[in-house]
Amino acid sequence: MATHNRGKAGEIRTMLAPFGVEIVSAGELGLPVPDETGTTFEDNATLKALAATRASGLPALADDSGLSVAALDGQPGLYTADWEGPTRDAMVGMKRIQDELAKRKVPDTDAARTATFHCVLALAWPDEHVEMVHGTLDGRIVWPPRGTGGHGYDPCFQPKGDTRTTAEMTDAEKNAISHRGRAFRMLVEACFK
Ligand code: IMP
Repeated sequence: MATHNRGKAGEIRTMLAPFGVEIVSAGELGLPVPDETGTTFEDNATLKALAATRASGLPALADDSGLSVAALDGQPGLYTADWEGPTRDAMVGMKRIQDELAKRKVPDTDAARTATFHCVLALAWPDEHVEMVHGTLDGRIVWPPRGTGGHGYDPCFQPKGDTRTTAEMTDAEKNAISHRGRAFRMLVEACFK
């Protein structure tokens, strides 16, 4: 697993559990964190997957993901992790989104606070063949944050048609609808069926 993010790693581990594969993360192998120099989620997922497969000789699954807020012209998008600051504190990122929305006087309605989670999964094989899929989850930004489940920006994201944030769901409930869950099911369809 080409990730150093424990929240993502945990979700992907749960999703891979039924397949009986042994999983080791780039973090556990002490692989270097590659610079995310791409201009799309697809570029960054490919770059991370290829770096991990080249360094380990193993098939590598990378996740590049983020949150796009419509009223902020799609920000933070590719920079979602950067908005969490140098200590990667999700509360810092959530607060920044709320502050930007307040600065722009965006009303507290579903339509005005639309947001989308994106997840691109890239699976790189040692021969450098890459399979890629892109899953999304539409919803809205809520404030104050609610819930203790999930990770990252989950406490301030409420999926469309639900009254709970993704942090108020169990892992199984979140995986059933999430950007990562959807991408994962597409990947399984593309590679193993
Ligand atoms: P990356 O590791 O560069 O792909 O950055 C991903 C960013 O998106 C991090 O800030 C994560 O906290 C955030 N993120 C990705 N997936 C989720 C999720 O499922 N819930 C909440 N935040 C997420």
